Amino acid sequence: FTGKTGSELLTEKVKQYKVSEFQSVPVVVKEDASVYDAISTMFLGDVGTLFVVNDDGYLSGVLSRKDLLRASLGNQDLNIVSVHIIMTRMPNITVCRADDLLIEAAKKLIDKQIDGLPVVKDTPSGLQVIGRITKTNITKAFVELILDEQV
Ligand code: ADP
Repeated sequence: FTGKTGSELLTEKVKQYKVSEFQSVPVVVKEDASVYDAISTMFLGDVGTLFVVNDDGYLSGVLSRKDLLRASLGNQDLNIVSVHIIMTRMPNITVCRADDLLIEAAKKLIDKQIDGLPVVKDTPSGLQVIGRITKTNITKAFVELILDEQV
């Protein structure tokens, strides 16, 4: 008997969950992609958040569903407006890293009131996008945590 309370054991288990074990594949578009292209990519990729990369392939922006809906409300031609006009841009992007604790990523989603985070790798020239963490990944971890307890 370890003398640990149930909640201590649960905390211990949650702290073993790393972003890398739960991350999904990122879906990206280039800065010069049109809003129309981004909407198509969002449907084809079956994601709610797109990451925007610059010509060198490094993270430069984020596009949410509502960013694209807002851009579609006006009468402008969605083939002409490019995503770099409407995206949330660096350095205002909240990111996480593969070896971060999943609970830290979850806290960022709550604190910033956003649906997803890019998982990035630091390089001297910029942030490389290697994954994606969304509320769905957190929900999966939550379910796993509870179901594993019952076996
Ligand atoms: P929605 O806008 O569809 O409700 P979000 O809540 O994820 O989706 O996004 C809210 C706003 O925050 C959007 O303008 C979006 O560009 C921005 N955003 C989304 N994810 C991030 C992020 N990881 N870092 C910074 N801003 C973000």
